[in-house]
Formats: sequence, C-alpha cells, structure tokens
Amino acid sequence: MTIVGAMVIEELRARLGADAVYTDEAVLRAHRRDAWVLSELDDLERALVPLPSCVVKPRNVEQVATVVNLCRQSQTPLVPAGLRSGVCGGVLAPEGSVLLDLSGLSRVRAIDTHDLVGRFDAGVRGSDAEAAVNARGLSLGHFPQSIALSSVGGWVATRAAGQFSTAYGNIEDLVLSLEAVLPDGTSIVTSAGPRASTGPDLRHLLLGSEGTLGVITGVDLQLSRLPEARASAAYYVRDMRAGFDVQREILQTGWKPAVLRQYDAREVTRLFGGYRKDELCLLLMVHEGPRERVEAERGAVERLVLAAGGLVAPAAATEHWLAERNHVPTFTSFLENGVIVDTIEVAAPYGRIGDLYDGAIAALAAIEGIWNGSAHSSHAYRTGLNLYFSFAVQPKQRSELRQAYHRSWAAVMEASLKNGGTIAHHHGIGRVRREWIARELGPGGLATLARIKHALDPSGFMNPGVLLPTTD
Ligand SMILES: Cc1cc2nc3c(=O)[nH]c(=O)nc-3n(C[C@H](O)[C@H](O)[C@H](O)COP(=O)(O)OP(=O)(O)OC[C@H]3O[C@@H](n4cnc5c(N)ncnc54)[C@H](O)[C@@H]3O)c2cc1C
Repeated sequence: MTIVGAMVIEELRARLGADAVYTDEAVLRAHRRDAWVLSELDDLERALVPLPSCVVKPRNVEQVATVVNLCRQSQTPLVPAGLRSGVCGGVLAPEGSVLLDLSGLSRVRAIDTHDLVGRFDAGVRGSDAEAAVNARGLSLGHFPQSIALSSVGGWVATRAAGQFSTAYGNIEDLVLSLEAVLPDGTSIVTSAGPRASTGPDLRHLLLGSEGTLGVITGVDLQLSRLPEARASAAYYVRDMRAGFDVQREILQTGWKPAVLRQYDAREVTRLFGGYRKDELCLLLMVHEGPRERVEAERGAVERLVLAAGGLVAPAAATEHWLAERNHVPTFTSFLENGVIVDTIEVAAPYGRIGDLYDGAIAALAAIEGIWNGSAHSSHAYRTGLNLYFSFAVQPKQRSELRQAYHRSWAAVMEASLKNGGTIAHHHGIGRVRREWIARELGPGGLATLARIKHALDPSGFMNPGVLLPTTD
C-alpha cells in the first residue's frame, strides 16, 4: 500500500471510527465488485484482481462528505457502492481505491401517508423500503427483479426499471427529490414539490450518473396506494412482430396494464414449457388498480388482442411468472461448465423494433458455440418498447469465454444502434457499454457529458473507468 493510501485509512479511522473502515482481505474481495459476469469470471479463474485499499461504511451524510473530501484531497479513487447488484461493472474497485459502502445509510426517514411520499436513506434495501410502505397501506410501485438485492440509491444511480413500470413508471418517474454529496464535498437537495419549473432539473444530473458525479445520500419517492384489485391474463400471438403491434395498439389506445411482457418462442419453451403452444409467442399481463378500472382494462385489452388475431392463453402462465419472477439462476454454474451467459436490454420505437429483434437474433445465431439467443419485452411505452436479450455461448476453449462474450454484446449493440434504438434500457453503462456510448450520444453529446464531469469532478477521482469511455 502507498504512503498516501495508509494515511487515508488512518485518517478515515480517526474521523469515522475504526469500526467504519475495513481492510481485511476477505472483506475487500467480497466488496470489490458488482454482479458483472466478467468480474465473476475473474474470481472463478482466481485471476490476480486489483483490490481497494479499504471499504468504508459511513452511517450518515456528514461521514459521506468526510470520505469524499479526503479522497479528493489525497487523489484517491472513490467507488460508491449500493448493494452491488449492478450487472455492468459499475462497481469494480481499482487498486488502492476507497470502496464507499452505502449500505450503512439504511434509515427509512419518513412515510407521508397524506401526500404519498416516502423518504429514504440511499442505502435502504429495496425490499425493506417496499415492506415499510406496505405496512402503511402503500407501495413504491417499483419492482426490479433485484428488489431484494439492490438499494434505493442504486436504482437512481443506474436509472432502474421495475416489472410493473408500464403503469407506475420507471425510477425517473417516481423520484420526487434527491439529496447528494458532490465531488467538492458540498451537499445538494433538489426541490421536492410535485413539479417545478425552476430551470434544468438537477435530479437528472444524478439519475444514471453511476457514482461518477456525486454520492446520492437520500431519495424521496412518490408512493401509490396498494391496489384494490388485480387480474392476470395471458394470450398467444403469432410471432414477435404481431405481438409488438398488439402492444402498440394497447398503449396507444390509452390502456396501461401494470405488467405487459412478451416472450419469443424460445423463451416460451425455456421458461413456460407447460404453456407452450406450437411456435406461438406469449403475452403476459397484470392489470391492477381500482376495481372498476381493472375490470374495464382487462376486457378492453382482451378485445384488442383477439381482434388482432391473438388467442386466449391460460392466465396460470402469468400466475407462474408472478410466483417465479425474482428467482434467477446464478452465472456460476454456467461459467464452471465453460458457458458464458448474460442479458442485454435495449429499446427502440415501434417502427423499428421488429427489425432490431430479427437483426440481433440473427447476429447471435451466427456466433460459434451459441446455445441460446432469445428475447422478451418487459416495458412498453406509447412510442416503443424494450427488448431483453439473453444469450448463452459455449466456445471451444474456456480461454475464449471473454471473446464470445464481447461478440454476443456487439451483436445486440450493433442491431440496436442500426435500428434507432438505445444501447441501454435500464442496466446502465458501467464498463461493459462504455465503448458504445459515443455512438448513441454522438460527439456533441459525449463532449457535453465529459464537460459536466470535468466541471464537477476536475481530477476525476469519482468512480473512474465508469460511464465515459476512458481506459482503466
Ligand atoms: C438478479 C438481478 C436482477 C436484476 N433486475 C433488474 C431489474 O429488474 N431492473 C433494473 O433496473 N435492474 C436490475 N438489475 C440490475 C441492478 O439490480 C440495478 O442496476 C440496481 O439499480 C443496482 O442497485 P445497487 O444498489 O445494487 O447498486 P450497485 O450495483 O452497488 O451500483 C450500481 C452503480 O450505481 C452507483 N451507485 C450505487 N449507489 C450509489 C449512490 N448512493 N450514489 C452514487 N452512486 C451510486 C455505483 O457506483 C455503480 O456505478 C438486476 C440485477 C440482478 C443481479
């Protein structure tokens, strides 16, 4: 460890208390990364990986500011981390860095049942936040599959999306106000009203900032009353394009089923074997809200699907999804067997989404050793929808796993960019998408983002290597 590194640790212990600073190798190893499959591969291969010099776990905003100031003054890279469920390498501590573990900021600050606002420390676990508001008859309306693995602050930092987003919106629609410590150590709190017209919206500076522009310490979310009624439905559609047309019709007519998902035939076989019908695709829906609206929406949507040539499928398929929706197999067993798997979420307008789907599936199918290249959609809007691709590749040699991985990513990134899509619907950029961001933002957009970063963090100590295309 460098002299500066040792001094920073000593100073952190003096200011935050020895019990807030960890230097055991086991703790450093456990905290050094998120759930990015390439970092997991490094661990499995017992690669020589860089480690942070310490993990620091502040308990309040003042302590966060102390850590930020010390790191800036000593030019020590600082890596903010929520619960490290990110899947893009947003948390991957460089050698000698300080890993800022925000899970100690875990207070539910207040629940306002009158105005429907929940105020949380940024490190609160998503499922704890939901349980706290449920106890007051309310819900966040935000259900990422990782709700029990991720923090409220992490949701904001990555622009997360929940499974019920079609009705409730994504995290940017739910955040009322943010509190953050900026790289210069100052704190900001954005305005908290239901809406404001006070210049550019500073929430959007932090939404999706992935630890590069500041540390989010508090999050106010708007809440919903728990739904009075819920109904499940499922339908078969001829193929993906037919399903996209049906979803467009549903959304553009003005209906918003809370859950609206569409699986291609490969995923129907893999995930819904008992409900498979020929090579048809499956549409799943959950309607929820006031009873009258649920009944009206269910009936109206069914008429739209049938008019478009769809068929009613057992609603038990949707119940099966509801029961299993947060169970995910780990990457480990695949990697141990020489297979690399990952998921890639993109989005495009309705006019291009069919070509994006066909292009990405064809490009994945052409990769040597591909076992599976498939997709479903899970978030629909009036103008378009997302696609969530899954791939599994077994290259001839284990040493080619990384190459196979990058080829698979390139297949989907290129198909999305070619069809006017975004490279990231909700997992963020991290390290895996860095090299693609310029293609989406364009030279002007990228330069603007780099100027904002430089203005707030001129020395670049906040989460270096993430979001912007620099080298580690
Ligand atoms: C099984 C599984 C399912 C998932 N399902 C979904 C899903 O349905 N929807 C979805 O959107 N995502 C999903 N994800 C991805 C992940 O859970 C989200 O990106 C989540 O928002 C990350 O939160 P976290 O607390 O784990 O953040 P981390 O992984 O710890 O950090 C993510 C990024 O945000 C930064 N960061 C975290 N907290 C702060 C903070 N307080 N201030 C500043 N920067 C911060 C980090 O530096 C990093 O760049 C899933 C992941 C897994 C493993």
